[in-house]
Amino acid sequence: MLKKIARSVAWILVACAASTAGAQYPDKVITMIVPFAGGGPTDTIARILAQAMSAALKQRIVIENVGGAGGTIGAARVAQSAPDGYTLLVHHIGHSVASALYRKLPYDPIADFEPIGLINDGAQTFVARDDFPASNFKEYLDYIKANKDRVNMANAGIGSASHLCGLLFMSSIETEVMTIPYKGTGPAMNDLLGGAVDIMCDQSANAISHIKSGKIKVYAVTLPNRLASLRDVPTAAEAGLAGFSISVWHALYAPKDTPQPIIEQLTVALQTALKDANLKQRYSDLGAEAVSENRATPEALTRQLKSEIDRWEPIIKKIKGYAG
Ligand code: ASP
Repeated sequence: MLKKIARSVAWILVACAASTAGAQYPDKVITMIVPFAGGGPTDTIARILAQAMSAALKQRIVIENVGGAGGTIGAARVAQSAPDGYTLLVHHIGHSVASALYRKLPYDPIADFEPIGLINDGAQTFVARDDFPASNFKEYLDYIKANKDRVNMANAGIGSASHLCGLLFMSSIETEVMTIPYKGTGPAMNDLLGGAVDIMCDQSANAISHIKSGKIKVYAVTLPNRLASLRDVPTAAEAGLAGFSISVWHALYAPKDTPQPIIEQLTVALQTALKDANLKQRYSDLGAEAVSENRATPEALTRQLKSEIDRWEPIIKKIKGYAG
């Protein structure tokens, strides 16, 4: 109730400001909240987007990393922010699974946000420290099953993409290993590089440079098709986990009740940014694909969010018992 009143007051203030200022949005710096630590995949996707959207909006966009609790702390921050177009959220697939994983969420993933549009689809990779004793996906699975009490798996907290992938993985091989949560896979990757953790299912956007420089091992990708940027790496489905498939899609949101003219302006800026050749190339080099214009819309994002909630809820109910 209090939240509703605060929102209405904020909306009235925003509406008044907008009418006195005319169509001047954005006339100050925009903050894009990334609900994970800096240096990780969502941070990378968001920074590339922010640069291109900032050119389209002719306004600076700064990234603020608000990591923790699998992305839910940063999402809560945006849900509680003024709906004035100056605080936005870049979140991923985790936004559609959090309500199935948390008994109590401090926000409603649909009702508390204005969707702006999808950003990209992306692969995850099954990776390991460089001296992990397996040279292909089958050996990787066999080793993990035989050493389940010794192997540990890093993730970015409950509800993150790496956590979701880990849950699906452990239930697929009916083997539970110890998980180690971080505020993002940026810091988790540092520990994988240093050998402090054994394995991770991380987005290619974060892992690819370390895979290419040979600092970590890669065994499979989570999409139904191989990645152009990692041609030799099999899909998990073709290498032994039939039907295994996760795409880590990112999307852009504003707080609920952000005025529609602002949402429309942001949607156009998002679409312009996603057509930028430099952005497309940088995403593609990372194993991520910018979405087409018709998916970078509030309607498409609402559809995606609802269908992903419907897809994951029953799966999570079944596999939730695996390590958090
Ligand atoms: N997106 C997270 C990050 O940027 C990683 C994850 O969800 O697994 O750190």
